[in-house]
Amino acid sequence: MRLDRKLLILFVVVLLFFARLISVSSRRAVHSVLITNLEAAARAQEADVVRSMAVGIRKGNEALLSAYLRGCLGGFGASYAAALDEDGVVRFAESVSTLSKSPGDRFEAWKKGLSHPLSGESVRDGRPVLELALPGARGGLLLGFDLSEILITERQIAVKIFLFTGAAGGLTLALLMLLMRDLARREEKLRQTEKLSALGRLAAGIAHEINNPLGSILGFAQAAAARLDPSDALTPALRGIEEEALRCRNLVQNLLTFSRQSAGAFEEFDLARAVEGTLSMIESQARVQGVAIVRELKDGLLAAGDRGQIQQVVMNLCTNAVDAMPQGGRLTIRSGALKGGRVFFEVADEGTGVAGNIRNKIFDPFFTTKDVGKGTGLGLSLVHEIMVRHKGTVEASFPSEGGSLFRVTLPGPLRRAK
Ligand code: ADP
Repeated sequence: MRLDRKLLILFVVVLLFFARLISVSSRRAVHSVLITNLEAAARAQEADVVRSMAVGIRKGNEALLSAYLRGCLGGFGASYAAALDEDGVVRFAESVSTLSKSPGDRFEAWKKGLSHPLSGESVRDGRPVLELALPGARGGLLLGFDLSEILITERQIAVKIFLFTGAAGGLTLALLMLLMRDLARREEKLRQTEKLSALGRLAAGIAHEINNPLGSILGFAQAAAARLDPSDALTPALRGIEEEALRCRNLVQNLLTFSRQSAGAFEEFDLARAVEGTLSMIESQARVQGVAIVRELKDGLLAAGDRGQIQQVVMNLCTNAVDAMPQGGRLTIRSGALKGGRVFFEVADEGTGVAGNIRNKIFDPFFTTKDVGKGTGLGLSLVHEIMVRHKGTVEASFPSEGGSLFRVTLPGPLRRAK
Protein backbone atom coordinates (compact mmCIF):
# COMPACT_ATOMS: atom_id res chain seq x y z
CA MET A 1 0.00 0.00 0.00
CA ARG A 2 2.86 2.39 0.88
CA LEU A 3 4.67 1.41 -2.28
CA ASP A 4 1.49 2.17 -4.20
CA ARG A 5 1.37 5.71 -2.79
CA LYS A 6 5.06 6.41 -3.57
CA LEU A 7 4.59 5.11 -7.09
CA LEU A 8 1.52 7.30 -7.49
CA ILE A 9 3.39 10.46 -6.39
CA LEU A 10 6.31 9.65 -8.68
CA PHE A 11 3.95 9.04 -11.57
CA VAL A 12 2.11 12.34 -10.99
CA VAL A 13 5.39 14.30 -10.83
CA VAL A 14 6.66 12.69 -14.05
CA LEU A 15 3.26 13.27 -15.64
CA LEU A 16 3.24 16.97 -14.72
CA PHE A 17 6.80 17.34 -16.01
CA PHE A 18 5.93 15.76 -19.36
CA ALA A 19 2.65 17.64 -19.65
CA ARG A 20 4.53 20.90 -19.09
CA LEU A 21 7.21 19.91 -21.59
CA ILE A 22 4.61 19.00 -24.19
CA SER A 23 2.65 22.20 -23.60
CA VAL A 24 5.79 24.41 -23.88
CA SER A 25 7.02 22.72 -27.03
CA SER A 26 3.57 22.79 -28.57
CA ARG A 27 3.41 26.51 -27.82
CA ARG A 28 6.72 26.95 -29.59
CA ALA A 29 5.45 24.89 -32.49
CA VAL A 30 2.29 27.02 -32.77
CA HIS A 31 4.45 30.14 -32.63
CA SER A 32 6.79 29.03 -35.36
CA VAL A 33 3.87 27.95 -37.57
CA LEU A 34 2.35 31.43 -37.20
CA ILE A 35 5.63 33.15 -38.05
CA THR A 36 6.25 30.86 -41.01
CA ASN A 37 2.78 31.67 -42.33
CA LEU A 38 3.36 35.40 -41.97
CA GLU A 39 6.75 35.17 -43.62
CA ALA A 40 5.31 33.15 -46.47
CA ALA A 41 2.56 35.73 -46.96
CA ALA A 42 5.13 38.53 -46.94
CA ARG A 43 7.45 36.71 -49.31
CA ALA A 44 4.56 36.27 -51.76
CA GLN A 45 4.23 40.04 -51.98
CA GLU A 46 7.94 40.80 -51.87
CA ALA A 47 8.36 41.87 -55.49
CA ASP A 48 5.51 44.31 -55.14
CA VAL A 49 6.95 45.67 -51.88
CA VAL A 50 10.36 46.26 -53.31
CA ARG A 51 9.01 48.02 -56.36
CA SER A 52 6.72 50.27 -54.33
CA MET A 53 9.35 51.07 -51.75
CA ALA A 54 11.79 52.12 -54.40
CA VAL A 55 9.20 54.40 -55.97
CA GLY A 56 7.86 55.81 -52.71
CA ILE A 57 11.13 56.57 -51.02
CA ARG A 58 12.93 57.87 -54.06
CA LYS A 59 10.26 60.33 -54.90
CA GLY A 60 9.63 61.32 -51.31
CA ASN A 61 6.00 61.15 -52.13
CA GLU A 62 4.62 60.86 -48.63
CA ALA A 63 0.96 60.70 -49.63
CA LEU A 64 1.64 57.75 -51.92
CA LEU A 65 3.82 56.07 -49.30
CA SER A 66 1.21 56.56 -46.58
CA ALA A 67 -1.51 55.07 -48.80
CA TYR A 68 0.73 52.17 -49.64
CA LEU A 69 1.61 51.49 -45.96
CA ARG A 70 -2.05 51.64 -44.97
CA GLY A 71 -2.77 49.13 -47.73
CA CYS A 72 -0.06 46.89 -46.24
CA LEU A 73 -1.67 47.14 -42.78
CA GLY A 74 -4.93 45.82 -44.20
CA GLY A 75 -3.33 43.30 -46.57
CA PHE A 76 -1.13 41.62 -43.96
CA GLY A 77 -3.33 42.15 -40.93
CA ALA A 78 -0.42 44.03 -39.33
CA SER A 79 -0.83 46.63 -36.59
CA TYR A 80 1.80 48.98 -37.97
CA ALA A 81 3.97 49.35 -41.08
CA ALA A 82 7.08 51.43 -41.77
CA ALA A 83 9.05 52.28 -44.88
CA LEU A 84 12.81 51.72 -44.53
CA ASP A 85 15.45 53.23 -46.76
CA GLU A 86 18.18 51.17 -48.29
CA ASP A 87 20.29 51.51 -45.08
CA GLY A 88 17.47 50.07 -42.99
CA VAL A 89 16.58 53.44 -41.44
CA VAL A 90 12.88 54.17 -40.79
CA ARG A 91 11.70 56.90 -43.15
CA PHE A 92 7.99 56.80 -42.65
CA ALA A 93 5.67 54.88 -40.33
CA GLU A 94 1.94 54.24 -40.12
CA SER A 95 0.08 53.56 -36.84
CA VAL A 96 2.97 53.57 -34.39
CA SER A 97 4.79 56.53 -32.94
CA THR A 98 7.41 54.70 -30.90
CA LEU A 99 9.45 53.28 -33.79
CA SER A 100 13.00 54.51 -33.48
CA LYS A 101 14.55 55.94 -36.55
CA SER A 102 17.35 53.35 -36.51
CA PRO A 103 15.94 49.83 -36.22
CA GLY A 104 19.28 48.44 -35.08
CA ASP A 105 21.16 45.19 -35.49
CA ARG A 106 18.21 43.25 -36.75
CA PHE A 107 18.58 44.93 -40.10
CA GLU A 108 22.32 44.53 -40.40
CA ALA A 109 21.94 41.25 -42.25
CA TRP A 110 19.46 42.87 -44.55
CA LYS A 111 21.83 45.70 -45.26
CA LYS A 112 24.50 43.13 -46.12
CA GLY A 113 22.29 42.15 -49.01
CA LEU A 114 20.45 39.04 -47.79
CA SER A 115 17.14 38.96 -49.53
CA HIS A 116 14.95 36.90 -47.18
CA PRO A 117 12.54 38.43 -44.66
CA LEU A 118 13.85 38.86 -41.12
CA SER A 119 11.63 38.42 -38.12
CA GLY A 120 11.96 39.09 -34.43
CA GLU A 121 9.91 39.85 -31.33
CA SER A 122 9.85 43.28 -29.76
CA VAL A 123 7.73 45.51 -27.49
CA ARG A 124 5.94 48.59 -28.82
CA ASP A 125 3.67 50.73 -26.64
CA GLY A 126 4.07 48.07 -23.92
CA ARG A 127 2.59 45.34 -26.13
CA PRO A 128 4.49 42.35 -27.50
CA VAL A 129 4.89 42.54 -31.26
CA LEU A 130 6.34 40.38 -33.96
CA GLU A 131 8.27 42.40 -36.54
CA LEU A 132 8.94 41.34 -40.09
CA ALA A 133 11.48 43.22 -42.18
CA LEU A 134 11.02 42.67 -45.90
CA PRO A 135 14.14 43.73 -47.78
CA GLY A 136 14.31 45.13 -51.28
CA ALA A 137 17.10 46.50 -53.45
CA ARG A 138 16.32 50.15 -52.75
CA GLY A 139 14.36 50.11 -49.56
CA GLY A 140 12.17 47.84 -47.52
CA LEU A 141 9.08 47.39 -45.43
CA LEU A 142 8.83 46.80 -41.70
CA LEU A 143 5.59 45.15 -40.55
CA GLY A 144 4.56 44.84 -36.91
CA PHE A 145 2.01 42.28 -35.71
CA ASP A 146 0.30 42.49 -32.35
CA LEU A 147 1.40 39.36 -30.52
CA SER A 148 -0.86 39.63 -27.45
CA GLU A 149 -3.79 37.91 -29.22
CA ILE A 150 -1.51 35.26 -30.61
CA LEU A 151 0.05 34.72 -27.17
CA ILE A 152 -3.39 34.30 -25.61
CA THR A 153 -4.34 31.72 -28.26
CA GLU A 154 -1.03 29.94 -27.76
CA ARG A 155 -1.54 29.90 -24.01
CA GLN A 156 -5.07 28.52 -24.43
CA ILE A 157 -3.79 25.79 -26.70
CA ALA A 158 -1.00 25.03 -24.23
CA VAL A 159 -3.49 24.82 -21.33
CA LYS A 160 -5.72 22.49 -23.35
CA ILE A 161 -2.78 20.26 -24.24
CA PHE A 162 -1.70 20.31 -20.58
CA LEU A 163 -5.19 19.28 -19.47
CA PHE A 164 -5.57 16.62 -22.16
CA THR A 165 -2.18 15.04 -21.48
CA GLY A 166 -2.92 15.24 -17.74
CA ALA A 167 -6.31 13.56 -18.16
CA ALA A 168 -4.91 10.92 -20.52
CA GLY A 169 -2.04 10.28 -18.12
CA GLY A 170 -4.40 10.12 -15.14
CA LEU A 171 -6.60 7.65 -16.96
CA THR A 172 -3.60 5.53 -17.89
CA LEU A 173 -2.48 5.65 -14.28
CA ALA A 174 -5.90 4.59 -13.01
CA LEU A 175 -5.98 1.74 -15.53
CA LEU A 176 -2.46 0.71 -14.57
CA MET A 177 -3.36 0.67 -10.89
CA LEU A 178 -6.50 -1.36 -11.58
CA LEU A 179 -4.46 -3.82 -13.62
CA MET A 180 -1.82 -4.04 -10.87
CA ARG A 181 -4.47 -4.62 -8.23
CA ASP A 182 -6.15 -7.26 -10.39
CA LEU A 183 -2.80 -8.93 -10.97
CA ALA A 184 -2.08 -8.97 -7.23
CA ARG A 185 -5.52 -10.48 -6.57
CA ARG A 186 -4.99 -13.16 -9.21
CA GLU A 187 -1.55 -13.96 -7.82
CA GLU A 188 -3.05 -14.31 -4.36
CA LYS A 189 -5.77 -16.58 -5.73
CA LEU A 190 -3.23 -18.69 -7.55
CA ARG A 191 -1.15 -19.04 -4.40
CA GLN A 192 -4.28 -19.97 -2.49
CA THR A 193 -5.22 -22.55 -5.13
CA GLU A 194 -1.75 -24.07 -5.03
CA LYS A 195 -1.89 -24.22 -1.24
CA LEU A 196 -5.32 -25.80 -1.42
CA SER A 197 -4.31 -28.38 -3.96
CA ALA A 198 -1.33 -29.39 -1.77
CA LEU A 199 -3.64 -29.44 1.23
CA GLY A 200 -6.18 -31.46 -0.76
CA ARG A 201 -3.56 -34.08 -1.67
CA LEU A 202 -2.44 -34.30 1.95
CA ALA A 203 -6.04 -34.55 3.19
CA ALA A 204 -6.85 -37.19 0.57
CA GLY A 205 -3.84 -39.28 1.66
CA ILE A 206 -4.78 -39.08 5.33
CA ALA A 207 -8.48 -39.65 4.64
CA HIS A 208 -7.63 -42.72 2.60
CA GLU A 209 -5.50 -44.16 5.43
CA ILE A 210 -8.17 -43.42 8.05
CA ASN A 211 -11.03 -44.85 6.00
CA ASN A 212 -10.23 -48.54 6.54
CA PRO A 213 -9.58 -48.55 10.32
CA LEU A 214 -12.67 -46.36 10.68
CA GLY A 215 -14.73 -48.92 8.82
CA SER A 216 -13.44 -51.59 11.24
CA ILE A 217 -14.27 -49.49 14.34
CA LEU A 218 -17.77 -48.86 13.01
CA GLY A 219 -18.27 -52.50 12.09
CA PHE A 220 -17.04 -53.80 15.47
CA ALA A 221 -19.12 -51.28 17.41
CA GLN A 222 -22.25 -52.13 15.43
CA ALA A 223 -21.64 -55.88 15.74
CA ALA A 224 -21.00 -55.63 19.48
CA ALA A 225 -24.10 -53.45 20.00
CA ALA A 226 -26.21 -55.91 18.03
CA ARG A 227 -25.14 -58.77 20.30
CA LEU A 228 -25.82 -56.95 23.53
CA ASP A 229 -29.16 -56.57 25.19
CA PRO A 230 -30.44 -52.99 24.65
CA SER A 231 -30.63 -52.60 28.44
CA ASP A 232 -26.98 -53.52 28.85
CA ALA A 233 -24.86 -50.77 30.48
CA LEU A 234 -22.40 -50.91 27.55
CA THR A 235 -25.01 -50.28 24.86
CA PRO A 236 -25.05 -46.44 25.13
CA ALA A 237 -21.24 -46.40 24.97
CA LEU A 238 -21.26 -48.59 21.84
CA ARG A 239 -23.95 -46.40 20.25
CA GLY A 240 -21.75 -43.39 21.10
CA ILE A 241 -18.79 -45.04 19.35
CA GLU A 242 -20.98 -45.80 16.36
CA GLU A 243 -22.27 -42.21 16.16
CA GLU A 244 -18.82 -40.67 16.43
CA ALA A 245 -17.39 -43.14 13.91
CA LEU A 246 -20.21 -42.23 11.50
CA ARG A 247 -19.42 -38.54 11.94
CA CYS A 248 -15.75 -39.21 11.22
CA ARG A 249 -16.68 -41.25 8.15
CA ASN A 250 -18.74 -38.34 6.92
CA LEU A 251 -15.79 -36.02 7.34
CA VAL A 252 -13.44 -38.46 5.61
CA GLN A 253 -15.95 -38.79 2.78
CA ASN A 254 -16.07 -35.01 2.46
CA LEU A 255 -12.30 -34.81 2.31
CA LEU A 256 -12.13 -37.52 -0.34
CA THR A 257 -14.78 -35.84 -2.49
CA PHE A 258 -13.07 -32.48 -2.01
CA SER A 259 -9.72 -33.76 -3.22
CA ARG A 260 -11.12 -35.71 -6.15
CA GLN A 261 -10.28 -33.96 -9.39
CA SER A 262 -13.52 -34.42 -11.29
CA ALA A 263 -17.14 -35.40 -10.90
CA GLY A 264 -17.92 -39.09 -11.29
CA ALA A 265 -20.00 -40.47 -14.12
CA PHE A 266 -22.65 -38.03 -15.35
CA GLU A 267 -26.12 -39.44 -15.53
CA GLU A 268 -29.62 -38.12 -15.88
CA PHE A 269 -31.58 -38.37 -12.65
CA ASP A 270 -34.83 -37.18 -11.12
CA LEU A 271 -33.87 -34.16 -9.02
CA ALA A 272 -36.91 -34.32 -6.70
CA ARG A 273 -36.21 -37.98 -5.90
CA ALA A 274 -32.51 -37.35 -5.26
CA VAL A 275 -33.39 -34.45 -2.92
CA GLU A 276 -36.04 -36.56 -1.17
CA GLY A 277 -33.52 -39.35 -0.60
CA THR A 278 -31.19 -36.89 1.16
CA LEU A 279 -33.95 -35.23 3.20
CA SER A 280 -34.96 -38.57 4.66
CA MET A 281 -31.48 -38.78 6.22
CA ILE A 282 -31.69 -35.48 8.06
CA GLU A 283 -35.40 -35.26 8.75
CA SER A 284 -35.30 -36.95 12.15
CA GLN A 285 -32.48 -34.71 13.39
CA ALA A 286 -34.35 -31.67 12.06
CA ARG A 287 -37.53 -32.69 13.86
CA VAL A 288 -35.66 -33.05 17.17
CA GLN A 289 -34.42 -29.48 16.72
CA GLY A 290 -37.90 -28.15 15.91
CA VAL A 291 -37.13 -27.56 12.23
CA ALA A 292 -39.96 -28.25 9.79
CA ILE A 293 -38.96 -29.14 6.24
CA VAL A 294 -41.15 -27.58 3.55
CA ARG A 295 -40.90 -29.18 0.10
CA GLU A 296 -41.68 -27.19 -3.04
CA LEU A 297 -40.16 -29.64 -5.48
CA LYS A 298 -41.16 -29.80 -9.12
CA ASP A 299 -42.10 -33.34 -10.11
CA GLY A 300 -40.33 -35.12 -12.93
CA LEU A 301 -37.54 -32.54 -13.26
CA LEU A 302 -34.42 -34.14 -14.67
CA ALA A 303 -30.89 -32.99 -13.89
CA ALA A 304 -27.57 -34.18 -15.26
CA GLY A 305 -24.59 -34.91 -13.05
CA ASP A 306 -23.09 -37.17 -10.46
CA ARG A 307 -26.18 -38.00 -8.42
CA GLY A 308 -24.17 -38.91 -5.31
CA GLN A 309 -22.32 -35.59 -5.33
CA ILE A 310 -25.48 -33.56 -5.88
CA GLN A 311 -27.03 -35.35 -2.91
CA GLN A 312 -23.91 -34.37 -0.96
CA VAL A 313 -24.61 -30.73 -1.93
CA VAL A 314 -28.23 -31.00 -0.72
CA MET A 315 -27.03 -32.62 2.49
CA ASN A 316 -24.42 -29.95 3.26
CA LEU A 317 -26.81 -27.05 2.55
CA CYS A 318 -29.61 -28.60 4.61
CA THR A 319 -27.30 -29.45 7.53
CA ASN A 320 -26.10 -25.85 7.61
CA ALA A 321 -29.72 -24.60 7.46
CA VAL A 322 -30.71 -26.82 10.39
CA ASP A 323 -27.60 -25.75 12.35
CA ALA A 324 -28.54 -22.09 11.75
CA MET A 325 -31.93 -22.58 13.46
CA PRO A 326 -31.13 -23.86 16.99
CA GLN A 327 -34.53 -22.56 18.17
CA GLY A 328 -36.33 -24.23 15.27
CA GLY A 329 -37.97 -22.77 12.20
CA ARG A 330 -38.73 -23.63 8.61
CA LEU A 331 -36.35 -25.09 6.05
CA THR A 332 -37.75 -24.67 2.55
CA ILE A 333 -36.32 -26.55 -0.37
CA ARG A 334 -37.67 -25.79 -3.82
CA SER A 335 -36.67 -26.71 -7.35
CA GLY A 336 -37.57 -25.61 -10.85
CA ALA A 337 -36.55 -25.33 -14.47
CA LEU A 338 -34.55 -22.46 -15.94
CA LYS A 339 -34.16 -21.14 -19.45
CA GLY A 340 -31.65 -22.97 -21.64
CA GLY A 341 -32.57 -26.37 -20.28
CA ARG A 342 -30.93 -25.80 -16.90
CA VAL A 343 -32.48 -26.57 -13.51
CA PHE A 344 -32.13 -25.11 -10.04
CA PHE A 345 -32.83 -25.86 -6.42
CA GLU A 346 -32.81 -23.56 -3.41
CA VAL A 347 -32.41 -24.16 0.31
CA ALA A 348 -33.87 -21.35 2.42
CA ASP A 349 -33.88 -21.09 6.19
CA GLU A 350 -35.10 -18.69 8.87
CA GLY A 351 -31.87 -18.87 10.83
CA THR A 352 -29.18 -16.50 11.95
CA GLY A 353 -28.00 -15.51 8.48
CA VAL A 354 -24.34 -14.63 7.96
CA ALA A 355 -22.73 -11.42 9.25
CA GLY A 356 -21.72 -9.00 6.47
CA ASN A 357 -17.99 -9.14 7.26
CA ILE A 358 -17.70 -12.92 6.74
CA ARG A 359 -20.01 -13.38 3.76
CA ASN A 360 -17.06 -13.50 1.37
CA LYS A 361 -15.38 -16.23 3.45
CA ILE A 362 -18.07 -18.87 3.90
CA PHE A 363 -17.03 -20.77 0.74
CA ASP A 364 -13.36 -20.87 1.84
CA PRO A 365 -12.14 -24.31 2.87
CA PHE A 366 -11.82 -24.74 6.63
CA PHE A 367 -13.71 -21.54 7.38
CA THR A 368 -16.20 -22.22 10.15
CA THR A 369 -17.95 -20.31 12.91
CA LYS A 370 -19.12 -23.49 14.58
CA ASP A 371 -17.64 -24.97 17.74
CA VAL A 372 -14.61 -27.24 17.58
CA GLY A 373 -15.83 -30.77 16.86
CA LYS A 374 -19.05 -29.50 15.26
CA GLY A 375 -17.90 -27.64 12.16
CA THR A 376 -15.06 -28.52 9.80
CA GLY A 377 -15.46 -25.63 7.38
CA LEU A 378 -15.54 -28.07 4.46
CA GLY A 379 -19.28 -28.15 3.74
CA LEU A 380 -19.67 -25.08 1.52
CA SER A 381 -16.24 -25.33 -0.10
CA LEU A 382 -17.21 -28.85 -1.09
CA VAL A 383 -20.52 -27.58 -2.48
CA HIS A 384 -18.62 -24.98 -4.49
CA GLU A 385 -16.09 -27.54 -5.72
CA ILE A 386 -18.83 -29.95 -6.83
CA MET A 387 -20.70 -27.20 -8.65
CA VAL A 388 -17.54 -26.13 -10.50
CA ARG A 389 -17.07 -29.74 -11.64
CA HIS A 390 -20.68 -29.81 -12.82
CA LYS A 391 -20.40 -26.47 -14.64
CA GLY A 392 -23.10 -25.30 -12.28
CA THR A 393 -23.27 -22.40 -9.83
CA VAL A 394 -23.96 -21.85 -6.17
CA GLU A 395 -24.89 -18.45 -4.76
CA ALA A 396 -25.74 -17.33 -1.26
CA SER A 397 -28.09 -14.45 -0.51
CA PHE A 398 -29.37 -13.09 2.73
CA PRO A 399 -32.93 -11.69 2.68
CA SER A 400 -33.49 -8.53 4.68
CA GLU A 401 -36.11 -10.27 6.83
CA GLY A 402 -33.39 -12.70 8.04
CA GLY A 403 -32.18 -16.19 7.29
CA SER A 404 -30.16 -17.44 4.34
CA LEU A 405 -30.88 -18.67 0.86
CA PHE A 406 -28.51 -20.87 -1.14
CA ARG A 407 -29.35 -21.26 -4.82
CA VAL A 408 -27.78 -23.96 -6.95
CA THR A 409 -28.07 -24.21 -10.74
CA LEU A 410 -27.26 -27.34 -12.73
CA PRO A 411 -27.23 -28.61 -16.28
CA GLY A 412 -30.59 -30.06 -17.25
CA PRO A 413 -31.25 -33.32 -19.09
CA LEU A 414 -28.20 -34.57 -21.01
CA ARG A 415 -29.58 -34.23 -24.52
CA ARG A 416 -30.06 -30.51 -23.93
CA ALA A 417 -26.84 -29.97 -21.96
CA LYS A 418 -23.91 -28.54 -23.88
P1 ADP B 1 -19.23 -25.81 8.62
O1 ADP B 1 -20.69 -26.05 8.45
O2 ADP B 1 -18.48 -27.04 8.95
O3 ADP B 1 -18.90 -24.68 9.52
P2 ADP B 1 -19.42 -24.79 5.95
O4 ADP B 1 -18.37 -24.59 4.91
O5 ADP B 1 -20.57 -25.65 5.59
O6 ADP B 1 -18.65 -25.38 7.19
O7 ADP B 1 -19.97 -23.42 6.42
C1 ADP B 1 -19.06 -22.38 6.73
C2 ADP B 1 -19.74 -21.35 7.58
O8 ADP B 1 -20.73 -20.67 6.83
C3 ADP B 1 -20.48 -21.88 8.77
O9 ADP B 1 -19.62 -22.11 9.87
C4 ADP B 1 -21.49 -20.78 9.05
O10 ADP B 1 -20.88 -19.74 9.77
C5 ADP B 1 -21.79 -20.26 7.66
N1 ADP B 1 -23.05 -20.79 7.13
C6 ADP B 1 -23.20 -21.71 6.17
N2 ADP B 1 -24.50 -21.95 5.90
C7 ADP B 1 -25.21 -21.15 6.72
C8 ADP B 1 -26.61 -20.88 6.93
N3 ADP B 1 -27.56 -21.54 6.24
N4 ADP B 1 -26.97 -19.98 7.87
C9 ADP B 1 -26.02 -19.31 8.56
N5 ADP B 1 -24.69 -19.49 8.40
C10 ADP B 1 -24.28 -20.39 7.52
